Amino acid sequence: MTIKTVQTLNPTAENPWVVSVNQLKEWDKCHAQFYYKTVLKQRWLSDERNFELGKAVHALMDLHAKGLPTEHLRVGLKPNILAHFDALLEHPLAKAPVVTSEYAFYLPFSVEGFPHITLTGRIDRISLYNGSLAIIDWKTGTAVPHDYATAWQTRLYSYAIWHMRDALPLPKGEGTAEIHFYYVDVRTNRQPAVKVYDVTIDAVYIAETEGLLKQVLARILAEKRFALPSACPDKYCRFSQVCGINPETTAQLPLFSLPQASVLGQRVSDEANPLDLF
Ligand code: SF4
Repeated sequence: MTIKTVQTLNPTAENPWVVSVNQLKEWDKCHAQFYYKTVLKQRWLSDERNFELGKAVHALMDLHAKGLPTEHLRVGLKPNILAHFDALLEHPLAKAPVVTSEYAFYLPFSVEGFPHITLTGRIDRISLYNGSLAIIDWKTGTAVPHDYATAWQTRLYSYAIWHMRDALPLPKGEGTAEIHFYYVDVRTNRQPAVKVYDVTIDAVYIAETEGLLKQVLARILAEKRFALPSACPDKYCRFSQVCGINPETTAQLPLFSLPQASVLGQRVSDEANPLDLF
């Protein structure tokens, strides 16, 4: 089954497709969710309380990376936040010389026929560690991907830094021949509190990633039908009432304010032409 599409991705020089890790994960999870979120740009508000720990710890780690004081901020911070921050500070990766922190990248990319693509992301920290360039991601609440060596985050961030490392503010004479990606997972309710997941990034990995990115992005750009999965993979997805996965609720409420909202949730068979009602 597919959802009825009313728009497709069509990146231009004025309006390039800015590709993020979340978009790639959404595509893998559910093409219909990708359609609503990335093609139609429909998002819902998140409950900020779910991100309190992660946001606070990342902000503290950023101040620490920049050599700024954090002592005065400890007063009033929740014990849980301080415990996670302190556990991270004890790890050798947090003590390694910092190259940059909260590093946002925008890397031009293209697939055949579509030159206006930009890869984007924000890297928690880049450091020099054991003679290598370390791309570091602090995990304070969300789980490390079970396939972390081949996860989109590992691939996209490593691919960007591989191509942008000459632009990094590296100390003169520092070699960057080897790159590692580190997920640093901190949970103060277990021992040890910090677990590290290390992926070595080399030319083969980067070539493989480039091939995969080109293949998947080309597939997405050619997509017109955005099939629904056989079962919903995301119990928190707000599109359940319009995507067609629950036929009994789909017809009832137009979640969107778009004029085409009334048809967004119609299920059509794979044989039907998704454009035939327009
Ligand atoms: S509710 Fe489930 S099936 Fe529907 S768009 Fe969301 S993730 Fe996909």
